[in-house]
Parts: sequence; structure tokens; C-alpha cells
Amino acid sequence: MLGEKQFISLLEKLDEGVIITSSEFDIMYANEIAIAYFGEKIVGKPIYNLIRNSEVIDAINESQEINISFPYASSIGKHNLQLHYYQKHENPGIIVINDRTEEEKFQNIRRDLIANVSHELRSPLTSITGFIETLQNEDVSKDQRSRFLSIMQEESNRMNRIISDLLSLSKIEIDMYKELVDEVNVIDQINIAKNALEHRAAESGKMINVVIKGDIPKIKGDADQIVEVFHNLFDNAIKYSNDGSTITAIIDLHLVDTQEYIRATIANDGAGINEEHLPRLTERFYRVDKARSRDIGGTGLGLAIVKHILIRHNANMEITSKINGKTKFIVSFPCG
Ligand code: ADP
Repeated sequence: MLGEKQFISLLEKLDEGVIITSSEFDIMYANEIAIAYFGEKIVGKPIYNLIRNSEVIDAINESQEINISFPYASSIGKHNLQLHYYQKHENPGIIVINDRTEEEKFQNIRRDLIANVSHELRSPLTSITGFIETLQNEDVSKDQRSRFLSIMQEESNRMNRIISDLLSLSKIEIDMYKELVDEVNVIDQINIAKNALEHRAAESGKMINVVIKGDIPKIKGDADQIVEVFHNLFDNAIKYSNDGSTITAIIDLHLVDTQEYIRATIANDGAGINEEHLPRLTERFYRVDKARSRDIGGTGLGLAIVKHILIRHNANMEITSKINGKTKFIVSFPCG
């Protein structure tokens, strides 16, 4: 049989908070986790002092089993606690407390994402529906008709771009923990991205200039994903730079402590980004100037895709920008 000491030491080892109440609803025992949330002084106090929640108090009075979540601010921060309480009349009761803060955060991110995706898809859809109705109901000239149709086409292209970026993001997330086995030449992938976009850059008189400094070793990675990183960074550099300017990509080796990195600095001249936006640029759908990004075909997902691929490669990215000056995206892949 389990002795009292063993029982208590078992409770102390749990990841959950545990509180035991007497048949009079006084707290007889709280393990370390519960004390971290509610403080040492709770022992000896009535349970009502601890949980001032009318739903819980009613349930205690009626000897019901309770399972609720509630926000709680303790000395160790704000938490979302889930509390499971069981006590039958004239018997001791037990409360088990789980910290749901992380799950709650994750659920919030998921809810925000769904709301954002719906919002982003709804605006082009509303515009398409509006034009369909106009074309169906009104006498429109040939010129108007062709203008409406080209707007509708652009809006459906936009929906397509959003959906394909979302699928890309979700595939990256699915592959996040797949082992990287291929030996990849980063320079080759940069050149693939450059070749795919050079033409587009030239349309507004821009050039992409790749400069390689030193011998760049191969790294373990996913070649297609590395192309995607540079494709997105070049694509942004083209979209947000001054007409006729040159976009540069400098690739060199960089030592931090004893770790060597392949560092790629993609720089362009343009309007620049205000400092306050820099930490948020890799969030899904975050755009400094929504209308501008939309006009030039942005989805607000490019840098989120980049961030996720970099996480998979243990790589990191630093962004610096000067208003009406240079914007630099500095990506570092660890070697070995
Ligand atoms: P988008 O599809 O809008 O380009 P991204 O996720 O690729 O979305 O980029 C997010 C935002 O970061 C852009 O809307 C833009 O405001 C800003 N941004 C990205 N790259 C650059 C750049 N090279 N110069 C200036 N702003 C940039």
C-alpha cells in the first residue's frame, strides 16, 4: 500500500496543480505547482476564498463535479487555468489544475488565421460577385464589359495566389520535422530564383546582381524550399524597390562564436520600412501598406513562408531598413 509520505511525494512530482479539500471545504493540502499559482497562504483557507467564481461556488454547494477554464493572474504571470474539481458531500475533495495558457494561445492563433483567411478571400469574392450582378442586370458597353472582366480576372488570380501560398505554408508546416538529408548548393538555388525573376525585374528596368565571396560549402537542406526563400525575397525586392535600381545578393561565410554560417544579404533601394513594422513582417498577412501590396499582387504570406522554411533549416533572418534608403534581408544558414 502507498503510505502518506509516498503519496505526497508523488503529488509533488506531478505537472498538474493538486489541491485537497476537507469535507468542510477547507484546503488541507496544495502541491508545489498549485502553490506557485495561488500562493502558500491558501492552505487552511476555505476553497471559496481561492476561487471567487460564482459558477464554481454554485457547483461546490451542489456537490457537482466541475470542469472549467478561467484566466488567473498569479505572481508567476497570467495563466489560463483549467480546473477539475470533485467533492461529494461530507467527503474530502480534490482539485486538479492544468495550465492551458499555451493551448489557448494556439487556439487564438488558429482562430485569427481562419478569420484572416476568410477576410482576405471575401474581398476579392465580393468584388467578383458585384461585377457578375452588374453584367447580368445592366446594359453595359463593350468597353465596360471588358474592363469588368479584366478586374474579375485579376481578383480571381489574387484568390488563387492566396490559396496557393496558404497551401505552400501548410505543406512547409507538415514537412517541418522531416529530416533534411540532401546536400544542397545554396548558390545554385539562389541562381534558380534569380533566373526565374530576372525577366520581371527587367520590366521595370531593375537588375538582380549576385555576388559570391569565398568558397561556399554545401549544406543539408531542402533545395526546393531554399529556392522558395530566395524567390520570395527577390520577388519582394523587385516589388518594393525604385524603378531602374539594382537588387544585390551578397553571399559570404560568417562566423558567430564557433558556428559558421552561409550568409545571404538581399538588398534593395526603395521607400524602406519603418522600424516599428520590422518585427511583424513575417506574420501571416502582415503588410506595411495593404493597398500597395494588393496593387502589386502581394498576398502578405511571402515572408511567413520564408520564416517557416528558415526554422526548418535552423537558419535565421535579420531585417534592416532605412526610410527612402536600403532595405536588407540577411539570411544565415548554419554550415555543418
Ligand atoms: P506581400 O505579399 O505583401 O509582399 P510579404 O509577406 O512578402 O507580403 O511581405 C510583407 C510586407 O513586408 C510587405 O507587404 C511589405 O510591406 C514589406 N516588405 C517586404 N519586403 C520588402 C522590401 N524589400 N522592401 C520594403 N518592404 C518590404
